Amino acid sequence: MISRRKILKRLSTMPLLGGLVGSTAPLQSALAATTSLAPRNLVKELGIRTFINAAGTYTAMTGSLMQDEVMETIQAASKEFMMLDDVQTKVGEKIAALVHAESAVVTAGCFSAMTLGLAGVLTGMDQKKVEALPQLEGTGMKSEVIVQKGHNVGYSHALTNTGCKMVFVETVEEVEKAINEKTALMWFLNIQSDQGKIMHQEWVNLAKKHNIPTMIDIAADVPPVENLWKFHEMGFDLVCVSGGKAMRGPQSAGILMGKKHLIAAARLSMPPRGSTIGRGMKVNKEEILGMYVALEKFVGQDQQKEWKMWEDRVAHISDTVKKVNGVSVETFRPELGNHTPTLRIKWEPAKINLTTKALQENLRNGDPSIEVVGEQGGISLTTWMLKPGQEKIVATRLKEELTKASV
Ligand SMILES: *Cc1c(COP(=O)(O)O)cnc(C)c1O
Repeated sequence: MISRRKILKRLSTMPLLGGLVGSTAPLQSALAATTSLAPRNLVKELGIRTFINAAGTYTAMTGSLMQDEVMETIQAASKEFMMLDDVQTKVGEKIAALVHAESAVVTAGCFSAMTLGLAGVLTGMDQKKVEALPQLEGTGMKSEVIVQKGHNVGYSHALTNTGCKMVFVETVEEVEKAINEKTALMWFLNIQSDQGKIMHQEWVNLAKKHNIPTMIDIAADVPPVENLWKFHEMGFDLVCVSGGKAMRGPQSAGILMGKKHLIAAARLSMPPRGSTIGRGMKVNKEEILGMYVALEKFVGQDQQKEWKMWEDRVAHISDTVKKVNGVSVETFRPELGNHTPTLRIKWEPAKINLTTKALQENLRNGDPSIEVVGEQGGISLTTWMLKPGQEKIVATRLKEELTKASV
C-alpha cells in the first residue's frame, strides 16, 4: 500500500510530456471532422501522455483497458433511451446469478458501493430516512460501524460519508464490548485481512450472533474469480468490488452485491432519485451494461490460461534483466489484492549506479513511455495490464537502462 501511495503522489506532480498542442491542432480536427478520413486523435490533439502499464490497476493510471465487447456494448447502448431503473433491475438479476448472490446493482465504483450499501442498511425502505442522510441524529437510524484497527485505510471514508462514525476494535472481546444499539454494520477490508486479529468467518459469526449486518470490501481481490461468490457463501450480507480493475469493466463502475432487501434499500439512495446522498454517484446505462458484459467475460474466461500468459510475460522480462551484472529478480504473487504474478527487480548499488526514482523517470520519459512501481531499493512490475508483445518492450527498455547505469 505504501509504494502504491508513493507512486500515485509522484505521478500527480509529474508535468505532462510530449504534446502537440499547437497551431495545427484546430486545423487537424477540422479536417478530420469534414473528411471523416482519419478519426480525431485526442491523445495527440491534447498532448496526453499514454504509456505501457507495467505497474498494475491503479486508479490514477486509469485502471484497466476495456475489451472490445465492452466497448461495443457501450456504443450500442448509447443509441437508445432506456429507463435507468429498468436497466439496473435487469442487469442486476443477471449479475446476481453470475456471482451467486441474491441481488446486485452496478455502482459508481467499489467506493460508492460501500456508501450506498451502508445507506441501505441504515434506511431500510423508509423514504424519510433516505432523505435525512447524512443526518442521523434524531432519525432513529443507527450510527456506528465497527472495524478492526488494522483495516483502517483511507477507503473507510466511503462509510463515514453516510454520517456514521467508525468504532475501532482489535480483539473479539473488544467487538463484543463495542456492539450496542447504535451499531449499524461490521465492516471487513479483505486486502488488510492479515493486519487484523479476527479473520473472515469469525467476523461474520460474531456479527450474526448479535444480529448485525456485515460488509466486505474486495475491491482489488479478483482474481481469483471465486472471490466473487466466496464471501456471500461465507455469510457476508454485502460484498463490494471494483469493476474497472482486473475485471476490465468501465473504470467508474463497481458492483454492490448481497442480500436482496439491502440492495433494494441501497437503490433508494441511488440515481435517478434526488434528495439522496447517492445522487452524485450516477452510473449511466452504457456503463451498467458494459459492466455486465465485462463481468460475464471475466467469469467465463479460462483463468489458468490468463495466469499462464501473465507468468510467461514475467518470465521473459525476468530472464532478460537478470543478465545484467548486479541485478537480482524475484517473482511472487501477492496473496491479498492484485493477485497476479509480480516481478521484483533489485540491483547492487556498487555495480549499477541508479536510483529507483531515476529508473522510473527514464522509463517514463522514454519512447514508448513505461510505468512501473517504485519500491525501496528497486522496482516491481506486473504484466496483466500489458497488451500482447509489450513485455518485449518492457524487457528491452529495462535492460537498456540498467546496462547504461552499470559502473
Ligand atoms: C480501488 C479500491 C477501492 C475503491 O474502488 P473504486 O472502484 O475505485 O471506487 C476501495 N477499496 C480498495 C481496497 C481498493 O483497492
